[in-house]
Amino acid sequence: MNGIFEVRWHGRGGQGIVTASKILAIAAFNEGFVGVQSIPWIGAERRGAQIEAYNRISYAPILLHSQVYAPNAVIVVDQSILSENSSTTIRGLKKNGFLVLNAAHSNVLSSLRVPEGCSVYVVDATSICLELGLQVAGLEILAIPMLGAFAKATDLVSIKSLENAIKSFFEADSVKKNVDAILKAYWSTRKVHLKPEQYLSPIPPSKPVRIPEIHHWTDLPPVPTSTPSKGSIGKTGDWRTHKPVVDREKCSKCLFCWMYCPEAAINVDSDGFPEIDYDYCKGCGVCFNECPREAISMLVDEK
Ligand code: SF4
Ligand code: SF4
Repeated sequence: MNGIFEVRWHGRGGQGIVTASKILAIAAFNEGFVGVQSIPWIGAERRGAQIEAYNRISYAPILLHSQVYAPNAVIVVDQSILSENSSTTIRGLKKNGFLVLNAAHSNVLSSLRVPEGCSVYVVDATSICLELGLQVAGLEILAIPMLGAFAKATDLVSIKSLENAIKSFFEADSVKKNVDAILKAYWSTRKVHLKPEQYLSPIPPSKPVRIPEIHHWTDLPPVPTSTPSKGSIGKTGDWRTHKPVVDREKCSKCLFCWMYCPEAAINVDSDGFPEIDYDYCKGCGVCFNECPREAISMLVDEK
């Protein structure tokens, strides 16, 4: 595998996709991948509401921390989400990618459109959960068997790595049920072939995405903030002995420094570069430590 393998999970709150995405990250690490990420994307609504989770898996450390927009694999744990709006669910799926579905009947597949070269895999995760009693507070934890289906479809993680991840994640008395669900799903997952006209290139744009995509900090909703002013202990810039200075030649505009600065003393200029507010920068050096490009130097401040 070259580069980063990206996964997007679709499910509803309570079906275990956040947990399953953490387990997949642990299993991938067990498998020898050095860069692994698990990212939940949930809103204010929880149980029953549509949520997403993401994984990134790579043989090298990953510096990108964002939603997944162009997944190599999409896992849909609740087929009602696919029926509601399949084009939103499939959005961005790469050509030659993987679509792994929880579906009991093939009728859900008749209206499906997938990118050219995509491999579609199906497993009846709901029946597996019901058979094993894999439920919490009345809801089937559908995402657990989907881990087995993902392993079968992509061959990216082994059952052994998933089993070890389950053992490290759950109490001993829950391990067997979860591992059995993964095994049953692994052996019952099947590849399905759609009609030739269901493979499209390119995929038409989807309806507006229910969960907003944030590609850049400018997509973030505005947060009301007060204007900093001199407090009772003076301006925090007065505390500084060392001053951070950004080298724009090295800076990639990733804005990790902006995100991590504990004083919110980093603004973003009109070109997208970080701009340090020396009135309030206390010289703690957090930005210097977090910058992945070593674009920040801490110089003695001779003010
Ligand atoms: S200074 Fe470093 S951390 Fe900040 S935006 Fe530039 S590269 Fe990213
Ligand atoms: S040195 Fe500390 S306070 Fe100053 S900009 Fe960097 S992180 Fe913020």
